[in-house]
Amino acid sequence: MSKVSTGKVGKPRYIFITGGVVSSLGKGLASASLGALLQARGYKVRLRKLDPYLNVDPGTMSPYQHGECYVTDDGAETDLDLGHYERFTGVSAHQSDNITTGRIYSNIIEKERRGDYLGATVQVIPHVTNEIKDFVLSDAGEDVDFVLCEVGGTVGDIEGLPFFEALRQLGQELGREQVLFMHVTLLPYIATAGEVKTKPTQHSVKELRSIGIQPDILLCRADREISKSDIRKIALFCNVRESAVIQGLDARSIYDVPLAYHAEGLDSEVLRHFGMETRKRINLRRWRAISETLHNPDGEVNIAVVGKYTVLPDAYKSITEALVHGGIANKVKVNIKWIESEEFSKSGSEVLSGMDGVLVPGGFGERGAEGKIQAVTYARENNVPYFGICFGMQMAVIEAARNLAQIEAAGSTEFGPTDEPIVGLMTEWLKGNEKQTRDAGTDLGGTMRLGAYPAVLDKGSLVAKMYNSTHIEERHRHRYEVNNAYIDRLEAVGVKFSGMSPDGILPEIIEIPDHPWFIGVQYHPELKSRPFAPHPLFAGFVAAALKQSRLV
Ligand code: GLN
Repeated sequence: MSKVSTGKVGKPRYIFITGGVVSSLGKGLASASLGALLQARGYKVRLRKLDPYLNVDPGTMSPYQHGECYVTDDGAETDLDLGHYERFTGVSAHQSDNITTGRIYSNIIEKERRGDYLGATVQVIPHVTNEIKDFVLSDAGEDVDFVLCEVGGTVGDIEGLPFFEALRQLGQELGREQVLFMHVTLLPYIATAGEVKTKPTQHSVKELRSIGIQPDILLCRADREISKSDIRKIALFCNVRESAVIQGLDARSIYDVPLAYHAEGLDSEVLRHFGMETRKRINLRRWRAISETLHNPDGEVNIAVVGKYTVLPDAYKSITEALVHGGIANKVKVNIKWIESEEFSKSGSEVLSGMDGVLVPGGFGERGAEGKIQAVTYARENNVPYFGICFGMQMAVIEAARNLAQIEAAGSTEFGPTDEPIVGLMTEWLKGNEKQTRDAGTDLGGTMRLGAYPAVLDKGSLVAKMYNSTHIEERHRHRYEVNNAYIDRLEAVGVKFSGMSPDGILPEIIEIPDHPWFIGVQYHPELKSRPFAPHPLFAGFVAAALKQSRLV
């Protein structure tokens, strides 16, 4: 049965963020920035994302299609926008903050098979729309003042319709006092005419109104100043207040966006809509500090990221951002050189010369693996700081097994059968650890070790020094593990297993003490890094790279 609210006014207030004209307008960043601004005014926020695609979650999607898959503490594989939300607000996202059409239909079909609908004909309206409304209204946590809910895609997309309809209904049921619609659009500049055009925005709003939604705020993305007369025109044709037409200009850094949108009056307009106090002070000190550091670095470092999806930097969004945060911690600019591992295995290590640090990120499958292993060899032999993340740790261990421990056939069962499974499926070598051993089988969704797991670090290790702690909790997303049967042979050649799962079974961290900075971690530290709290390993890696840059 639906839990849909009866429309009483009270907490929380809902802000629905939709997009028009084209995709990739930075709706996720706009939502995250608005969340940060409301927070800076002292309000408690929660951000949610509605994705109209049919995958149950983005876990099975290629990073080429949809960018990185962001993992939450509670093990949900979610849209990368949730990463922006976390980085900008510091509020940890949950499974309950991202839903897709696929999940909605799968819930409904499950209920239908159970007979929950008591013989009713199950339909898009009301069953799908009710399911969406239940998701939006589901408990956001105590004392949350604002729930910001972003709809993926662009108004007019067929698959988005049930979402827009559900939000329309909520707008009607809860009323203007509790709901605000913000529409993000584009004002393109036509060079031959020398003009910024408002027509696509007008059409997009017309489309939105044709499905019953009147936007309250228009965030107009543009690459140059929008004239007063254009603002007036948009306000008139789109039926919004002039002050509600907010100019969203391209920013130098994504971390400048909250400051820029505040200067354009976005947060005041939101509060005005809800009849809330707009004069209350806003504390943007931490955003100013970050912006100041980013634009006035004391130096720079060059980091090579050797990966497989390098043509689409969104595939490594959190890694990129965590490196920026590491730069903030050291007051330096981090230049990232993306290196396609397959190319690299052909062209040789030349491309890495001059790099102050090498990072091998997470990855799946055999393609490009040998190139990554070569990158590890280069970093290890040339004393260049090395940071291996998940797959990057697995490749580092295989490299050490082959080249230091002389286990020539060292490999991962991810690439097929091997005589020396340095990395393997837990089911292959770890019997009876039920919680973590759901086999891949034929269902590729949710068969991984996902979400936050604790690890215990060796006192005196480099990682314990970086974390300033021996007990940590980090997020995982992988099927394979480093095989603990090889620990002794690897430790004998200088690879230290400095972090293990609390039961001592699963290797979580390796390091090479006889190297300036060589760390591999089985988890994804990048997911927990924030501009205000750079992850200690990224801060440490960039610091080591800085030292390296001063050597040459
Ligand atoms: N493919 C490896 C595994 O499944 C590594 C995954 C990753 O890097 N996220 O274990």
